[in-house]
Amino acid sequence: MLTQIKGLHHVTSMASDAQQNNRFFTELLGLRRVKKTVNFDAPDVYHLYYGDEVGSAGTVMTYFPFPNIVKGHRGTGEVSETVFAVPEGALDFWRARLEGAGVDGIGTDERFGEARLRFAGPDGDGFALAEVAGDPRAPFADGPVPAESGIHGFRGVTMQLRNTAATAELLKLMGYEEVGRQGDFTRLALAGGNGADIIDLEARPDAPRAREGAGSVHHVAFAVEDRAAQMQVRKALLEAGAHVTPVIDRDYFWAIYFRTPDGVLFEVATHEPGFARDEGVAHLGEALKLPDQHAHLRARLEQSLPAIPG
Ligand code: ZN
Repeated sequence: MLTQIKGLHHVTSMASDAQQNNRFFTELLGLRRVKKTVNFDAPDVYHLYYGDEVGSAGTVMTYFPFPNIVKGHRGTGEVSETVFAVPEGALDFWRARLEGAGVDGIGTDERFGEARLRFAGPDGDGFALAEVAGDPRAPFADGPVPAESGIHGFRGVTMQLRNTAATAELLKLMGYEEVGRQGDFTRLALAGGNGADIIDLEARPDAPRAREGAGSVHHVAFAVEDRAAQMQVRKALLEAGAHVTPVIDRDYFWAIYFRTPDGVLFEVATHEPGFARDEGVAHLGEALKLPDQHAHLRARLEQSLPAIPG
């Protein structure tokens, strides 16, 4: 069993409208935009990052806004829900806030003893807020949401799968332990992680497969401290039969990717070097940042990308 993984690093999804996406995460959910860059593999679209004040691992929700993308359909073989942790007692505040903004899909439930508020993102993205007592992670304090109700970061994700056994085995190799079962859900948790420690597997043996599009999670990234830890994880995954990419430089972290047996794209990303690599913490996310390989496109991209206020 590996011990290098510290919880989630980021979750990356697809959106249809960059400006709407930016408003939803900064103005409604109160996260900080910590980076405004482009999709390194498709530089004509943004890659927008939202998180806590510095973009700590385990807090960072990221988006590729593709104009004209078709809407995704929830199903098996994907991350079906991204769950954020909020303080105990905060769900009434959030229910009123989200209802007041006309958010779709609002409903409450309880999972493994945690009170939750489910809601949909602008493209039908599956989200929930879960009340978690004593989460030490500080919510972003300079946004529109009062700190006593603010989002601490991720609690975890839910994956909908035809068959959960192989993914559970993979997660156990990665350091997770099964901690409970409730109906169709199996909960795996990482001891001593960064707070974004929970993976719920929902067994849906008869459900259709997901179709990826706007509102779909593209991949989920797990955090490791540094490149040495990442190489240890990569070696163990290769030995277990996973098809893992070489290490890729994403400017703000180093990344490796592989698919789970059910086709969910996983990434393992480093804490180093972090989002303050190319701009000061006071100004994170304000200016359009381009990686060296796309720097020559700046004039064109500044014309073609939709304006997002600093
Ligand atoms: Zn990623």
